[in-house]
Amino acid sequence: MKTIDLIVPCYNEAEVLPLFYNEVCAVAGNTPDFSFRFIFINDGSRDKTLDEILTFAQNDERVKYISFSRNFGKEAAMLAGMKYSSGEYVCIIDADLQHSPWMIPEMLRSLENEQQYDVAAARRTDRTGEAKFKSAFSAAFYSVINKMSSVEIPESAQDFRVMRRKVVDAIISMPEYNRFSKGIFSWVGFNTKWFEHENVERAAGTTKWSFMSLLKYAFDGIIGFSVAPLKIALTSGIIISSIGVIYAIYTIIKTLILGPDVKGYPSIICAVMILGGLILLALGIIGEYLARIYLEVKNRPIFIVDKTNIDLPEIKK
Ligand code: UDP
Ligand code: MG
Repeated sequence: MKTIDLIVPCYNEAEVLPLFYNEVCAVAGNTPDFSFRFIFINDGSRDKTLDEILTFAQNDERVKYISFSRNFGKEAAMLAGMKYSSGEYVCIIDADLQHSPWMIPEMLRSLENEQQYDVAAARRTDRTGEAKFKSAFSAAFYSVINKMSSVEIPESAQDFRVMRRKVVDAIISMPEYNRFSKGIFSWVGFNTKWFEHENVERAAGTTKWSFMSLLKYAFDGIIGFSVAPLKIALTSGIIISSIGVIYAIYTIIKTLILGPDVKGYPSIICAVMILGGLILLALGIIGEYLARIYLEVKNRPIFIVDKTNIDLPEIKK
């Protein structure tokens, strides 16, 4: 029998977890040709999430858990799940039932029958129920990142996907500290079959994303998957200084012909401010990359496990 591991990142999801668990049990029951394991990652929740997971684990040996020592973020939780997984297929799914577990059998079957595909991933058909301003921000982000980065990052793609083992191994071989999964999924390649998925409201609980955290996520994506911002600083620097040089030559010639001219303070102030701004911008961009290089070279672990019921020998470093 083929094995599949469901990876479920959970941060303060106590309210929705029983609903989620019932649904995935039903799905597993209806898919007898696969042996399921449910790997819950408790990402430093401050509510009863861990207790819920421990209760499931007591009565069901398919339930595995990894509990972090603090909140490390969804990216770290997904990575931990993948590192601790051993199934031939791995599925990443949110705990809030926004990713419909009923699609898993369909996705699995298409990977079984169509060998040319290695990933079955969901993408959303619409953005109903989402704030207008959030959708506009998201559209702008994807258009910027796709222009700047050499990997194509589809806007509607979700983290909800079933992958073959080789794809998971490729993803966990990427050791980077600043992880942006949507970029990583595209970067590793492999053929993806897309499944349309309607936007559904969360079954219970609240979203963990504030506007600031989304902004930071967008920023991490751009800096992590593109060096174009470094070039912006360079090109604009070259253009502005060329204009400066031409203007200086023009002024010298003009002064030689027409004599000195005391006017022009406003233009000097403008030039100083524009140039000062550009220099700060360039330094800021370099600073962002430097900060990330600094975090990468420190080589800190991406997550720290407090408790788990997964046997150590199964774990890949
Ligand atoms: N999540 C997590 N760690 C975090 C934030 C979120 O493991 O720091 C999990 C969360 O429990 C959920 C999934 O990631 O299962 C998606 O989070 P959420 O539903 O808040 O995001 P949204 O669907 O609003 O984008
Ligand atoms: Mg959600």
